[in-house]
Amino acid sequence: MRRGVEVVEATEGEVFDIELEADILKANEKLAEENTGLLREYGVKSIDVMGSIGSGKTCLIEQLVQRLRERYKITVFNGDLTTTIDADRVKRHGVEVVQINTGKECHLDANLVKKALQKVNLTGIDLLLIENVGNLICPAEFSLGSEMRIVVTSVTEGPYMVVKHPFIFMGTDVAVINKVDLAEAMEVDPNKLESDIYSINPDAKVVKTNCRTGEGVKELIEILNL
Ligand code: MG
Repeated sequence: MRRGVEVVEATEGEVFDIELEADILKANEKLAEENTGLLREYGVKSIDVMGSIGSGKTCLIEQLVQRLRERYKITVFNGDLTTTIDADRVKRHGVEVVQINTGKECHLDANLVKKALQKVNLTGIDLLLIENVGNLICPAEFSLGSEMRIVVTSVTEGPYMVVKHPFIFMGTDVAVINKVDLAEAMEVDPNKLESDIYSINPDAKVVKTNCRTGEGVKELIEILNL
């Protein structure tokens, strides 16, 4: 009989930087609360858009901007380690954009968002879309102070992306399953991804999209109450 795979698991307190991390997360929470307060004070709706590299976060933001720019004064923050590639893409749609470059960090944090908020005129904004750094692990732990969180995943990431990253799906309000047009070629069932999400987070709202054509984006806008 084939034996199962051996698993080594880290227990709590065993990971070297655990105390340091707890302090960092606490400091981040405090700054996130300040961001929430500031955004509320100015009546700005805000959404943190998370997901892997290449899942379609920028494409989704472009779709949202095109459909909502007549109704809302939109600002977009684009998080990336380096470059302004995504910010340039979004800026073409005629909205205010701030690129946030994290250098080495694999996620945005509340401090960086706070710095970006100081660069914009909050009285002139009523919707803020924040594209997080492409990563399904680190952004889950760092709240930015946004009102809502979206995770974008796509069928091209394979069948196990959801079950392997439960924490980010646990903490999201909405999950987008993107690139559904490629599902057959990828042999990935979007309905299975959907049921994986519900089993991790029964309160999440799930939308299937093809951001290239805009399929599903109208439904997402309704779910987001925008
Ligand atoms: Mg992007």
